[in-house]
Amino acid sequence: MIKDIATPARTKEILNKFGFSFKKSLGQNFLIDTNVLRNIVDAANISESTGVIEVGPGIGALTEQLAKRAKKVVSFEIDQRLLPVLDETLAPYDNVSIIHSDVLKADIHQTIKEQFKDTSDIMVVANLPYYVTTPILMKLLEEHLPIRGIVVMIQAEVADRIAAKPGTKEYGALSIAAQYFAEAERVLTVPATVFVPQPRVDSAVLRLTVRDEPAVSVSDESYFFQVFHASFANRRKTILNNLVHNLGPKERKTDIEEALHEAGIDPKRRGETLSPEEFAILSEALLKRFP
Ligand code: SAM
Repeated sequence: MIKDIATPARTKEILNKFGFSFKKSLGQNFLIDTNVLRNIVDAANISESTGVIEVGPGIGALTEQLAKRAKKVVSFEIDQRLLPVLDETLAPYDNVSIIHSDVLKADIHQTIKEQFKDTSDIMVVANLPYYVTTPILMKLLEEHLPIRGIVVMIQAEVADRIAAKPGTKEYGALSIAAQYFAEAERVLTVPATVFVPQPRVDSAVLRLTVRDEPAVSVSDESYFFQVFHASFANRRKTILNNLVHNLGPKERKTDIEEALHEAGIDPKRRGETLSPEEFAILSEALLKRFP
C-alpha cells in the first residue's frame, strides 16, 4: 500500500532524502494534511473523465490526490530541484506529466491541445505560490482557456477580494476582473498548521466557475478593464477624479462628466459603489466619445 505524500512524517522523510531546502522566493509552503487535500479535490468535482492542470506540484502532495481521481494531471513546476523528487514520489501514477516551466510563460492553450486531446472536462487545481497568485489567476482567466473552472488555495485576504460584492471594503478591480470571467466563491478556510513551513497569513480555498459568457457585455474588453482599474486607482477619490487622473491622456474632464451623466452615475460616487453593470455602461458611454 502506498503511503500518502501529504503526512508530516512522509514529507519530512522525502525532504531529508533529497536534502531539499525551501525557497521562500518561490512561495514554497507544502501541504501535509490529506483531509485538506481531499476537500480541495472534492471542491473541484474531479471525476475519472476530468483532465487537471496543476500549478506548482512541490513534492507532489496535491498531485497525488488528483491523480487518484482524475483521468490525467499535467503539472507546471518552476523549480528544477523538485523534478527528481517528483519522479520518485509520483512513480506509482502513470497519468501524471510534469512540465518544467514558469506557468506565467507557458503556452497553456498549446499544452491543452497536446495533453488533453479527448478530454472535454478540464479543471485547474493548485495550492498556489502566494507571491504570484493574482498574475497566475488573471492569466488563466484572460486567456479564455477551455476550462470548467479553477480551484485554488490562496491567501484568505485575496480570496475575499476576488469573491467580494459591490459596496464592501474588499470589492475592487480584482473582484470585477475575476467575476467578469467566472463566478467566485470561498469554499474553505484553512489554518496555517497544515503547511510546512507555515505561512504567516491565513489561507482559503477559492472556487472560480468559468462563465459561458462574460458577466457583462462590452464592445471593447480591454477598455472596460482600463476604466474600472482607473476608477480604483485611489480609493479615497471620487470616480470623476480617478477617471480624470488615471484614464488616458485623450479623455478630457468635460467628456468624462458627460459620459458619467449619460450612464446615470453621480460623479461624486466612489468606485467601490459601482456594480460591474454600471462600469460596463460607463465604459460604453466613454468609448462613444473616445473611439
Ligand atoms: N502543490 C504543493 C503542495 O500543495 O504541497 C506545493 C505548493 S507551493 C505553495 C507552490 C509551488 O509552486 C512550489 O512547488 C513552487 O516551486 C511552485 N512555483 C512557484 N512559482 C511558480 C511558477 N511561476 N510557475 C510554476 N510553479 C511555480
